[in-house]
Amino acid sequence: MGANFESADCFFCHKYVARGAGHWNSVTYCNEACEDAALVVRAAEAQRLQEETRQQWINKWIPSWLEEANLKPATYEKILLKASTGRTIDLNEMTYVEVEKVINEVSDRARAKQKKIKRDALKSDGKCLRCGGAGRADKWAQTGHTCYACNGTGKAQPAVKF
Ligand SMILES: [Zn+2]
Ligand SMILES: [Zn+2]
Repeated sequence: MGANFESADCFFCHKYVARGAGHWNSVTYCNEACEDAALVVRAAEAQRLQEETRQQWINKWIPSWLEEANLKPATYEKILLKASTGRTIDLNEMTYVEVEKVINEVSDRARAKQKKIKRDALKSDGKCLRCGGAGRADKWAQTGHTCYACNGTGKAQPAVKF
């Protein structure tokens, strides 16, 4: 990509590169070998970070989401097999992308579970599912604050089937 317009230190080995010499590609290098070496270091660093993330997912976040999702073992196994396209159910044997699929699925299910628990609790209290029993909400200012699902009573109305 041409030589240096200005003298600078090599981005990789930090040796002085005179003006008009060296190899320039966004930053200054002594030569292409130094640029290649810098790319290798950067790729290795990216890979190291990815592996660190993968380990955190496996050891910390997936177990934590699993606890919340409370999945049946067979369901979890299906998720593992789907993520690894049938290769393994061992997270440690999965690639970064495969483990990412697992954590996405398990966290989605945990969130769905939390929502259901909340709805069930409201239902058993006889509370309106839309407003949670408040009958109104500030965020409905445009439509007059009152919950249309319960007409402001906060109580669950008999389900209307369409
Ligand atoms: Zn260099
Ligand atoms: Zn309501």
